[in-house]
Amino acid sequence: MISITVESVGGLEIKDSYGREITNLRISVTRNCNLRCEYCHHEGEKDNKNNTMTSDEIAKITSLAAKLGVEKVKITGGEPLLRPDITEIIKKIREIKEIKEISMTTNGVLLNVKAAELKKAGLNRVNVSLDTINPVKYKNITGVDALKKVKEGIEKAVKENLTPVKINMVILKDINSNEIETMIEWAQGKHVILQLIELIPLGRLYQQYYYNLKEVENKLLLTSTRVVEREMQKRRKYYLKSGVEVEVVRPNHNSEFCANCTRIRLTSNGYLKPCLMRDDNLQDILTPLRRGESEDQLLELFKKTIRMREPYYK
Ligand code: SAM
Repeated sequence: MISITVESVGGLEIKDSYGREITNLRISVTRNCNLRCEYCHHEGEKDNKNNTMTSDEIAKITSLAAKLGVEKVKITGGEPLLRPDITEIIKKIREIKEIKEISMTTNGVLLNVKAAELKKAGLNRVNVSLDTINPVKYKNITGVDALKKVKEGIEKAVKENLTPVKINMVILKDINSNEIETMIEWAQGKHVILQLIELIPLGRLYQQYYYNLKEVENKLLLTSTRVVEREMQKRRKYYLKSGVEVEVVRPNHNSEFCANCTRIRLTSNGYLKPCLMRDDNLQDILTPLRRGESEDQLLELFKKTIRMREPYYK
């Protein structure tokens, strides 16, 4: 029987009424994407391609978040690498001294060409979405024949030290649920961490493709030398005997996941979004920023939004 170590994250300032601190800001920098994954949750954003924040606006809102305890920023989208000013955005966030880590989740299609400049701008690490290494399935899932480019992007990210590079594999029943072993073998020796992600009930096709990862976790336990549970969202990381590291993300109907959530989101059109799953508690921060409201007023708005956070699964 192996023991499970619990890792903790730094303690911080503002808490919501459930005692949860906010240490992570997840920023969607665009709604546009160059892939068409049918299951995509679009970071919980409704169709809205207008009014995208500028790099200065993103940096300003991030600096407010930093004053309230945020230390880690995740850049997402849409596909963040489609923004021509993506390195500007990273450089500006890098200048905020409280921000200790900037990471990005990308589909990896443009990563090979951009990895070096992203690193230079101050990006610490990347998550690359890759649900299969079968080219035909890849095209079926994403609508685009880009597997080769994504693999090149992953190699380049490792080479540029955008590490740890995490591979986000969303598990889809009868599509790639039988490829977990194959992905684990593929990951061996590549210096990446494989993240197995349960499908979240947003976007289309949830009923058809949801696959529960409980059994997979049980199997991973048998082939692990060590398991570490991260305080943030109680995710477990399995250190397999083969040397591969596998993280499992299971947010569905998981009150522990929500109880330990330290994240707030910023939509591409400048709304603070306390929860991926909800649309009824968004707070527009871009309009008051554009109106020229004072920093104190904007901070008050931010604090009010943090206090409104509630666990989705209680
Ligand atoms: N385009 C970027 C990418 O592909 O990583 C960033 C945006 S994408 C929405 C961010 C992450 O969410 C990806 O790893 C994707 O696989 C994951 N994702 C999208 N829809 C999901 C769903 N319904 N359930 C679980 N994860 C999902």
